[in-house]
Amino acid sequence: MDGNAPEPQYWEKMRLVAEVLKAVEGPIYIATHVDPDGDAIGSSLGLYRALKALGKDARWVAEPPRFLRFLPKEEEYSDPVEKLPPGATLVALDSAEPSRVVGVPVEGFVINIDHHGTNPRFGHLHVVDPSKAATAQMVKDLIDLLGVEWTAEIATPVLTGILTDTGNFRFANTTPEVLRVAAELLGYGVKLAELTDRLQFRPPSYFRLMGQVLSTVAFHFGGLLVTAHLPEEARREEEDSDDFVGLIRYVEGSVVSVFLRKREEGVKVSIRSRGGVSAQNIALKLGGGGHVPAAGATLKGLDLDQAYEKVLEAVREELTRAGYL
Ligand code: 5GP
Ligand code: MN
Repeated sequence: MDGNAPEPQYWEKMRLVAEVLKAVEGPIYIATHVDPDGDAIGSSLGLYRALKALGKDARWVAEPPRFLRFLPKEEEYSDPVEKLPPGATLVALDSAEPSRVVGVPVEGFVINIDHHGTNPRFGHLHVVDPSKAATAQMVKDLIDLLGVEWTAEIATPVLTGILTDTGNFRFANTTPEVLRVAAELLGYGVKLAELTDRLQFRPPSYFRLMGQVLSTVAFHFGGLLVTAHLPEEARREEEDSDDFVGLIRYVEGSVVSVFLRKREEGVKVSIRSRGGVSAQNIALKLGGGGHVPAAGATLKGLDLDQAYEKVLEAVREELTRAGYL
């Protein structure tokens, strides 16, 4: 089966998830992926608030990155836990693999809601639909099925997930349905201009770092691939390096962009593509995963130079497959 195909039983499965969550009396843990992005934080905070509104014993385990910390109140997110209590339910959101779930062990009754085609469909219940623009879009449907009354507090994080995963409605995943859902969420009182402004705020150090990162930009395969990396000496400011790949992907003539950053465990790569080239194929070759136009991987135990070599090889293969080389 093609992992990127839409889920044919989307509504049946989501309805079942809603019924299960409504029936649960014990604790419901909500967790998301490592290096959480706007969709990870937005979808999980939205579901957390909806379950709280239903009177559920919901707990959201997460560590929001600095640029998203304005969304939750501090008391809404909790520290990592080593063990879930007996009878616990775990909802994993936007997590392409069980190993990417952070802060909780993947145990208890596991519900997996995600839109990554490479998701192995783990969990006791899973709704994985790669045709959805964001996990937050799926959480929007789930909240409707839960029958929770929409408020600006619930709609704001949900819209955040949709905004960030569609690049503010610019990417190909911006379907008419996405815009209808966004319009509905706006109607619940989301302050859009304030929200999009806030999501772009970065500390002064980020802009200095941007200069350093841009000085590493390089072109390969006649400009089809553009790369950049986080300079080693800038590593401690990495928390703010979330979207450099989103910056370099607009080099004219390029079809793939890759941003590399050295970490303790290896080199994390972020990949974006267009024009029939699959970032997902490249990520899979590197042991990672993700979507066709946006994917990533961590090259364990490698230094930057070795990682560049592997990336160039994987991109060469994909450019060849796609007919560019
Ligand atoms: P980013 O480059 O922004 O970290 O990730 C792009 C997309 O690929 C996201 O949807 C993210 O969840 C997914 N992704 C990033 N790194 C990995 C990885 O190592 N494994 C898998 N399966 N997915 C990843
Ligand atoms: Mn997502």
